[in-house]
Amino acid sequence: MDQMMAREPALQSALGGGWFLAILPPTHLIMKPFTLLTLSLSLAIISVSSAADAPLRIIAFGAHPDDAEFQIGGTAIKWAKAGHKVKLVSVTNGDIGHWDIAGGPLAIRRTAEVKEAAKRMGIEVEVLDIHDGELEPTLENRKKITRLIRSWNADIVFAHRPWDYHPDHRYVGVLVQDAAFMVAVPFICPDTPPLKKNPAFFYFPDRFKKPYEFQPDIAISIDDVFEDKVNAVDALASQVYEGGALGSKQTLLQRRVNDPKKRKEILRASWSARQGGIANRFRDELVKWYGKEKGGAVKHAEAFELCEYGRQPSEADLKKLFPFFD
Ligand SMILES: [Zn+2]
Repeated sequence: MDQMMAREPALQSALGGGWFLAILPPTHLIMKPFTLLTLSLSLAIISVSSAADAPLRIIAFGAHPDDAEFQIGGTAIKWAKAGHKVKLVSVTNGDIGHWDIAGGPLAIRRTAEVKEAAKRMGIEVEVLDIHDGELEPTLENRKKITRLIRSWNADIVFAHRPWDYHPDHRYVGVLVQDAAFMVAVPFICPDTPPLKKNPAFFYFPDRFKKPYEFQPDIAISIDDVFEDKVNAVDALASQVYEGGALGSKQTLLQRRVNDPKKRKEILRASWSARQGGIANRFRDELVKWYGKEKGGAVKHAEAFELCEYGRQPSEADLKKLFPFFD
């Protein structure tokens, strides 16, 4: 469940092969079998080296089957396109996140939606079987999160801040914070090997000011993947077209649910406004990372705040974790 989606009445491909051709001189297009073999070997080397030998491993925890996609979808696509490994986890199954249907059938539907979105983004996804609206920051759940971060061998972890509006969001924030130290401690959850290196933990942005306002440490232009993100979010029909928990029959009409072309136009405009809002709100951060001219021209952005727990990367380290600034 996403507060902005709930509040705004009007609603607010993966790896293409094309870039391979872009790096080839035209003479390579006419070639002998031997040349073809040599070429395919060099292309394999090129595609691996784009992920700097060892791909980064990113895991993002959202409370519901849409939160992580909404918050980090653009940056996830950028990592995936560069050969890095991204996994989104919905900590609850979303089974009360609709105004007209609920329970098992809704959990099944929303799981299928995020799987389709993940396919479109070129990433992985998992939905935990915990009831929507009933997540608690228990020891059992802390261990679940700890094991998931370890199993993914994560370099970077994302979650909500622990003072977001929805109790499930808040507790995801608490659970991930509580796991931040435990992931490296060998004698808790000894069935899953501990991480040798503590990951860097980041928060998604929100608009809440108490006890303190979201303070971005990094802002990413998603202009180059904006259409891909819209395409991924388009798969979450129960939320983006039908309005989720606070929708109604009126929402279906407003969002032109029965007109695939029109509804996607409305979706695109809404997401352009949303990511444009983030770009404008964090313009100083964009200028800091991209320089005045480039940062000033970014239309759509995502931004993240570094958690004080876990690894504390330097500015140079951040550029390695978010290799999008060259
Ligand atoms: Zn949510």
